[in-house]
Amino acid sequence: GFSSSATAGRGGQGVVNVLTSNLAPFTNPSEKDNRAAVVLTRGEGVYVYDTDGKKYLDGLAGLWSNALGNGNERIIEAAHAQLKRLAYQHTFWNRTTDIAEEYTSRLVDFGRHRGVVQTFMSCGGSDANDTNVKLAWYYWNAIGQPSRKTVIARKQAYHGVTITASSMSGMETIHKGYGPLPLPWVRHVSTPHYWKYGLPGESEEEYSARLAKELEAVIVREGPDTIAAFIAEPVMGAGGVIPPPRGYWGSIQSILRKYDILFIADEVVTAFGRLGERLGSEFYDIQPDLYTVAKAMSSSYYPLGAALITEKVADAIKNQANKFGVFGHGYTYGGHPVACAIGLECLNIYEEMQIWDHVKRMTPTFQLTLKQLETHPLVGEVRGEGFMLAIEFVADKASKSQIGTKVPPATILANECMKNGLLVRSTGHVLVIAPSLVYTMENFQEMFTKLKKSLDSFDEIVYKELPELPRD
Ligand code: PLP
Repeated sequence: GFSSSATAGRGGQGVVNVLTSNLAPFTNPSEKDNRAAVVLTRGEGVYVYDTDGKKYLDGLAGLWSNALGNGNERIIEAAHAQLKRLAYQHTFWNRTTDIAEEYTSRLVDFGRHRGVVQTFMSCGGSDANDTNVKLAWYYWNAIGQPSRKTVIARKQAYHGVTITASSMSGMETIHKGYGPLPLPWVRHVSTPHYWKYGLPGESEEEYSARLAKELEAVIVREGPDTIAAFIAEPVMGAGGVIPPPRGYWGSIQSILRKYDILFIADEVVTAFGRLGERLGSEFYDIQPDLYTVAKAMSSSYYPLGAALITEKVADAIKNQANKFGVFGHGYTYGGHPVACAIGLECLNIYEEMQIWDHVKRMTPTFQLTLKQLETHPLVGEVRGEGFMLAIEFVADKASKSQIGTKVPPATILANECMKNGLLVRSTGHVLVIAPSLVYTMENFQEMFTKLKKSLDSFDEIVYKELPELPRD
């Protein structure tokens, strides 16, 4: 059976060689070390277990998404009841289901205080971002400005991997090897990372103003009448958790308003409480025209995403679609009954718990405790907001040069964490932590203890390989 072949590869340590049947996402198919994958079999709250029964504290909530942890009986019951009642019907051609109507009206209520009046349902973040780009194009055609096609995104952004989302993502890994990516209607502006790219003597506000000027220069160069939308994550996530510098969102938003450019907030990670507010846009007081949500929307119990649409766009689309008779877009599984039942129960739970307030209360413990790691001689910056945090390693704090270990430093630390029963993520030189939204004080204490222990072995490994690196 699967479990015996799963444990065969490495003497029963809960690992298996990957890339045999499934081409594994974001995994190097040729590197020997990357071929060993941990095989997880079960989960309980914020813990998961591998094939050997080893227990891990999940420090990344799956993929920043499993907000309520595993085994939530209410969600399981809601899914089960819906499967029994009506497993599938679509929402096409003037037909719908009671559960899709109930859930989408609740989603609109969820975003109404930020201008949301309508939803368009998808199965995840990438296809919801595709939808938002189509909505933006449709909008401009509808109001008689069909020359507006270009989307401005940011370097290091992650918006997913469909061809549209890949194009908007600002990461080389996603474009490399695919020829025509990114598609020609995308432009990328700078990552707003003050610690890394701020000039000597430049304040955060001055840096933000410089980035707003850069955005304006791109708009003017391209021609304002060619720009459809600007897309951004309120806090950059997969790019290495980069909260905006002071003044950034105010300056950027005033440029977007000046040139009448639609603002798409990719809130796939930040919506539903991760920053301590219902929406990340609320945390930064930005007013997007379109929102992309997914992940915590279903606490990852089911594939689910949506475009949340504000009045300005919704009205124009309605008028435009009247010309064609229909709105020509829709996924078989958009508004899936089981997804909607799960999403609805998640929303009920979030509202009852006021999960965003829990996050807000726990944020100082999480952020301030780990901020202390900046005293480590090889830690350049600890940054984050809410339940998103990154630790960036450097060989030299002044020049911010990278540590030249054969295995990148954050990967060394992530591997040690894994040995010590803590799942976190490495992007090479940056370690990313994004716990479930239900983390208790005890969960955080356990995370800190495991991280500290892992850092001790990290020191041993790194200084052994590169003894010349700075020490305490
Ligand atoms: N947008 C952001 C900000 C994300 O972090 C992700 C996934 O990590 C996506 C979009 C893509 O979502 P999905 O993987 O559900 O397609």
